[in-house]
Amino acid sequence: MKHKFIAALITLTAGLVGVGCSLSNSHKTETKEVNEPRQIKTPVSFNRDSAYSYVRRQVSFGPRVSGTEGNRKCREYIVSELNRHGASNINIQEGEVTAFTGKHLPIANIMASYRPEDPNRILLLAHYDTRPWADSDVKEENRFRPVLGANDGASGVAVLLEIARQLNICEPPIGVDLLFVDAEDYGQASGFSAHDSTWCLGTQYWVKNMPYASDSLPRYAILFDMVGGLDAKFHREYFSDEEASKLVDKVWAMAQNSGFGDRFINQKGGAVVDDHIFLNKAGIPAIDIIESKNPATGTFAPTWHTVNDNLDHIDPSSLHAAGQTVLNLIHNEILCKE
Ligand SMILES: [Zn+2]
Repeated sequence: MKHKFIAALITLTAGLVGVGCSLSNSHKTETKEVNEPRQIKTPVSFNRDSAYSYVRRQVSFGPRVSGTEGNRKCREYIVSELNRHGASNINIQEGEVTAFTGKHLPIANIMASYRPEDPNRILLLAHYDTRPWADSDVKEENRFRPVLGANDGASGVAVLLEIARQLNICEPPIGVDLLFVDAEDYGQASGFSAHDSTWCLGTQYWVKNMPYASDSLPRYAILFDMVGGLDAKFHREYFSDEEASKLVDKVWAMAQNSGFGDRFINQKGGAVVDDHIFLNKAGIPAIDIIESKNPATGTFAPTWHTVNDNLDHIDPSSLHAAGQTVLNLIHNEILCKE
């Protein structure tokens, strides 16, 4: 994924184009009200060590670039874990996409369900591929090396797999679908706004071949991306707020009620080109839980798209904050349409 200049968005509205890769300072810091603390059900505990081990295992496969051996091994591992954790309807959606380089990439999205018979469903997703080039590395000689993606890729998948383990231990009150997408991170780092569509190729393919009828879409979707950074803070991502602000309110309130108000900061964060954009376009309200306002960079964590995105920079407490918040959300979900 990449950051998008909000200034460029304003220009876009005026009919012009232009996209950058860093965050605009034009955001006003604005704090939104969240609900008063309330009693919530916390029937299951997200295990941070288990989640960390899921990151470690993925990293052991090396870079998981779409179309490579590492990607295939990771996919097989995800499927085996979903089987072990009692998921239903495990399905691999294979396809082919064309990268901005012109290269044809074989891709495979993985989907699985809990409580598959329930029409009242939500969708959780993360990307399992990693970026082919560390093109944000400070050292020029590293920029054609692949990213290991401990945070950018493995962290979101790790949270999904630990959630799967917990859903198998304690059945959720609603249907939960899990989606692991390929080819999120093969996009063009700079250029004009049209190039936003060079990112999230797996999700764009999935949206065109969606396994839902148009009248039975999931109520909403939550994307986990880069949720494992050291002391990561999750601000309200721009496009999530634009398209699904009530859902952002709900998740950030749940985080506060779950004791993670110091991690889920109820203020505006960056604007990120990521998988949730394409779900929103497809009619599924979707938000992105992502570190987008790191204090050292003003945008993503310093390891983003560098060769330093490795296990040394993964924080189990960040995985815990993201995962426990959404597990609590699931177990406190009301069994009716909103
Ligand atoms: Zn990335």
